[in-house]
Amino acid sequence: IHRRPRRVHIYFSDTGGGHRASALSLEAALQRQYGNQVSIELVDFMRTAMPWPLSQAPETYQTLGHFPSVYKRAWDFDQDSNTWRDTRSYQMMWSYSKESILKYFQQWACELDLIISVHPLIHHLVVEALEEMSTGSGIQREDMGLPVVTVVTDLGSAHLSWFDPRIDMLFVPSEAIYQLAIKHGVPKSKINLCGLPLREGFWCADPIAPEQKCCLQEQLGLRPTERPEVVLLMGGGEGFGQLMNVACAIGDKLVGLGYGQLVVVCGRNEEVRKALSERRWSPRNFGEWLFEPLILGFVKNVDQYMTAADCLVTKAGPGSIAEALIKGLPCLLTTFIPGQEEGNISFVTENGAGSYVPDEEPEQVAEKIAEWLSDEEAMKRMSENARRLAKPDAALDITRRMCDSLLDLGIELDEVKQGQFGSLRKHLMQ
Ligand code: UDP
Repeated sequence: IHRRPRRVHIYFSDTGGGHRASALSLEAALQRQYGNQVSIELVDFMRTAMPWPLSQAPETYQTLGHFPSVYKRAWDFDQDSNTWRDTRSYQMMWSYSKESILKYFQQWACELDLIISVHPLIHHLVVEALEEMSTGSGIQREDMGLPVVTVVTDLGSAHLSWFDPRIDMLFVPSEAIYQLAIKHGVPKSKINLCGLPLREGFWCADPIAPEQKCCLQEQLGLRPTERPEVVLLMGGGEGFGQLMNVACAIGDKLVGLGYGQLVVVCGRNEEVRKALSERRWSPRNFGEWLFEPLILGFVKNVDQYMTAADCLVTKAGPGSIAEALIKGLPCLLTTFIPGQEEGNISFVTENGAGSYVPDEEPEQVAEKIAEWLSDEEAMKRMSENARRLAKPDAALDITRRMCDSLLDLGIELDEVKQGQFGSLRKHLMQ
């Protein structure tokens, strides 16, 4: 009998900020609930296990994000197929990276107890590799003692590649994605509808007391205020969209109004962060305060900025939206990644949690914000609608369900499983 913590790999890629954020959230939820019964590693799978140029996925995503029409073409390319595995794109990706991925799993397959993928392009390759390895070893992939789980991190629409009927469990955040999973052949018995897993700062949806909010605002360098006037502007992990123009339009609008504060989180968009930091804002005193927006790069405490803010202006990223819902922030969506984020716009607007005003017209975006700030009732209504959609328990729920079903944490690894590992190991050594 062998006693050791169950070893879990969480596979993600830094294409945007959402996949890493979900991976961190699952890691925290596993640790919170199972402590030293589990040992968890976050792996940027595309960088670590795949050959160049596929290993450059984050850089490619960064570039493609600035060319939405090209991105849309790539997104649409295989959408008519029934499964991702049947597509030319997937077959090319597998044959090109097969050797490298098999080499990766030669090292890891026998060490692991659970694989979680939070990225659409990873789990097919993982299952394929494990199936290839089990062929000839006398055991089925399902009996290897190494289940593969997918956690979908899109909200209102999702690419075909998220769905592989062969994975052991699939977690989806919304009814829309649940229906897509069924359409693409994932058996109902494997699908769990739990919400999007978010980081620990988003595990509680209770509103903060006004005096605590003021304290936090002061701590973050804002002017403490009980009036709803703090606008948070974001563009996902990469700072996509017309961040510069929108920030300037909103800033100038607030100066004109004579109230309001602005925080801009530029993410990894260093160019915009620098340009906004150097901008000279029209001087205007708000009482004893001079209007000066807070310009930030990539921050790790988005939860705090969202708690201190009164509304969010953002690209329609699933992660940012789900986080804003928990903090009860009305969302003004201004841009989206074609295909994958289109459904998020209707999700927000149809549920009364915000509006969509495209950032090609930054003055209109600023106008909408001015309208919101002058209508506390409307802000309150949107905030309540947002909180109704919030799923703060998602990360804890997902990890509990997967561990209950797949990890047998209460039981020591028995001899049968050791036998299976033994036979696989022998096969790999040949
Ligand atoms: N984010 C962050 N720090 C930043 C900017 C963004 O932690 O400076 C996080 C944000 O809170 C969210 C994720 O990155 O969790 C962005 O995910 P989303 O799905 O909104 O867009 P993506 O960047 O994946 O396209």
